[in-house]
Amino acid sequence: MARSLRIGVFVAVGLLAVFSLISFITYLPAIEAARRAGFSDDVIELGLQKSFEARLIFWGSQFAQIALLCWLGLTADGRRLAEYWLKSCGSRMWLAALLIVLTIGIARELLLLPFNLLGYFHGRRWEMLAEQYTLLAWAYDYILSTFLDGLLLVPSIVIFFWLLKRFPKTWWAIAPAGGAVFAIAYATLAPLLLDPLMNRFVPLEETKWKDLKPQLMALVDKAEIPVKEILVMDASKRSSHTNAYFSGFGSTRRIVLYDTLLKQLSPKEVEAVLAHEIGHWENDHIVYGILLGVLGMFVACWTLDGILITSLRQEPWLAEAKFDPRLVGWIILLLILGQWIVRPIENQISRIFESQADLRSLELIEDPQLAIDCEKRMAISNKSNVAPSPWNTWMFSTHPSSVQRIERATSWKP
Ligand SMILES: [Zn+2]
Repeated sequence: MARSLRIGVFVAVGLLAVFSLISFITYLPAIEAARRAGFSDDVIELGLQKSFEARLIFWGSQFAQIALLCWLGLTADGRRLAEYWLKSCGSRMWLAALLIVLTIGIARELLLLPFNLLGYFHGRRWEMLAEQYTLLAWAYDYILSTFLDGLLLVPSIVIFFWLLKRFPKTWWAIAPAGGAVFAIAYATLAPLLLDPLMNRFVPLEETKWKDLKPQLMALVDKAEIPVKEILVMDASKRSSHTNAYFSGFGSTRRIVLYDTLLKQLSPKEVEAVLAHEIGHWENDHIVYGILLGVLGMFVACWTLDGILITSLRQEPWLAEAKFDPRLVGWIILLLILGQWIVRPIENQISRIFESQADLRSLELIEDPQLAIDCEKRMAISNKSNVAPSPWNTWMFSTHPSSVQRIERATSWKP
């Protein structure tokens, strides 16, 4: 293998190992800040403990999959697996590539199954899961979502390898354009086709919270956005986690409230949450998210192209062309390691979007104390870590920390 590539992988995995250790360190100033924001020591301790356990499971699964991919992506065994499928598929390179991805995918699922199971029992132990959400119900969800992921993966891989073969020099510029089309189609259709497979969505006026509708629509009218429907999702069948989100694209845009949120929050607090989702809608965050994603894909594909050129005719792959299926394991390893470069950038952008939505919520509701109460109640009910270290926030948090959100609401002036 080219020396520089091997050193690159060693450095990347080494850095990740160091970061995983640092991620367990408690940051005392964050605890002080959480106390100042009004969280009790019990709440702080509980959140820290729960996230500590979740992190153990998370890192276990990450390093297990990296080990698997280093084996199949960096050794002659990976090449032998590729050659086995190549022999079975004749000249149909794309089919061989697809079968290698599926083999690695299934091996990865089996390897990660114990960690996913631990995740389920972690949820049980912390009383986050609904009584009726049995292991069987969880297994059904798990199989269904894995199957759906696989269904989306198959055409992506076939198209990817076809592009590599047909346009070996320019594929990296074409793939992101295809990615954009896929992302728009996915954002548009997922609320109609995929989401209903996992949950039931009922218009607010057909639920027992129908009396809330006029007051929530008044807020929508105030913001002057074309929300036709507010949907309630039956999240309580799985857990007590409270949330709301904005999804869809064009005519399928909708605001979804978890039924857990409606059960636990006061009507005024639900308004504050809705106002936050309106903030996402008004700021076109889904559109900007897709645009930034496509930009990121350009950079990622261009980098991958450079690495693939360096990898040609090198041990252990001995690949003659970029579309050679012997490179599949290596490409997957690169994607998994590349995620760790993308993750902090993506999350930084997400936190900016969330802050914009928070700000809009404050402007619409004009009641910072309500925003503070609401944030506190959700953090406590979700047993969130309210004292995360800045480096964990930097790497993992899609939202500003509870303390940051409370501090911003406190200093907000109409
Ligand atoms: Zn948000």
